[in-house]
Amino acid sequence: MIIVMNKSATQDQIDNVLDRIKDKGLEASVSKGIEKTVIGAIGDERLLDEELLASLPGVEQALHIVKPYKIVAREWHEQDSVINISGHPIGGKDIQIISGPCSVETPDQMQKSAKAVKAAGVKLMRGGAFKPRTSPYTFQGVGFEGLEMFREAADAEGLPIVTELLDVRHLDKFLEKKVDVIQIGTRSMQNFELLREVGKINVPVILKRGMSATISEWLMAAEYIASGGNHNIIFCERGIRTFETYYRNVLDVTAIPVLKKETHLPVIIDPSHAGGKAWMVAALSRAGIAAGADGLLVEMHPNPCEAWCDADQAINPDELKQLMSELTSIAQILGRNIGR
Ligand code: PEP
Ligand code: MN
Repeated sequence: MIIVMNKSATQDQIDNVLDRIKDKGLEASVSKGIEKTVIGAIGDERLLDEELLASLPGVEQALHIVKPYKIVAREWHEQDSVINISGHPIGGKDIQIISGPCSVETPDQMQKSAKAVKAAGVKLMRGGAFKPRTSPYTFQGVGFEGLEMFREAADAEGLPIVTELLDVRHLDKFLEKKVDVIQIGTRSMQNFELLREVGKINVPVILKRGMSATISEWLMAAEYIASGGNHNIIFCERGIRTFETYYRNVLDVTAIPVLKKETHLPVIIDPSHAGGKAWMVAALSRAGIAAGADGLLVEMHPNPCEAWCDADQAINPDELKQLMSELTSIAQILGRNIGR
């Protein structure tokens, strides 16, 4: 950390800052210029509180020089991390597509969905048993019963399952059902207690970006999970809120190279919740993979017009097949594998 003193700072004020730094077990180096004195704190600067130091008499500015996130930062881990999802790698050279309905509805719908996912060559299946809906009066998901339907339908096709954890009280049941990937939705990105709990287990976690979260808030949310010991984290950009009202959210493609620079962990995109319309899904998916995303989370329903949730944005089984063939070509150009 660097602490810049005011032009008029007294020696006592400088000594006070030095004492604070040394109290935390760090070394300090003082550099006296013609106009100002600059103090460098040497050691684990995360132990120092920027706001507290900035508030001391005689201090003009206190600045952290290392990133506030550590385990998730590429600064500390140069190589891309590859996460193994029940035998399927994601990250590095490996791209994975995850597809399935927004919500689990019935055994028949889940069986048809699982067959369609498998037939398209997709290796991982999604589906929500608990739905975070804006209105408490709309369909809230079929609950634990849905988790069972999902597990059965996916097992019949040999597909690992991805599903959203809304409530920490559901975690034991998720573990009992051997959920392969836990999804933390956009509305829960800063539910720190939930993040801490999934940090204590070793099941891979998809951490969606809060719809109004900055990149740094998103990385810090991941650090909550990682600091508990679970480093199997996949970032998912799902569109952010802007002034535009034509589409549901804006897919922040810029976040892909930025995240890839800041973290070694895989980054995927969700074109469905970004655009909010089925006809936008293919274009956004191609853009995401071309920009370097490690995968997609795409909503697909065997009969979109009858979907109980997010009907407008679900693609059908044929569209999923077509999308897979286009993405395979893009992956090839980029020298990457898709769906191993
Ligand atoms: C979902 O994936 O079903 C979902 C609710 O997404 P989000 O949290 O991005 O809205
Ligand atoms: Mn949805």
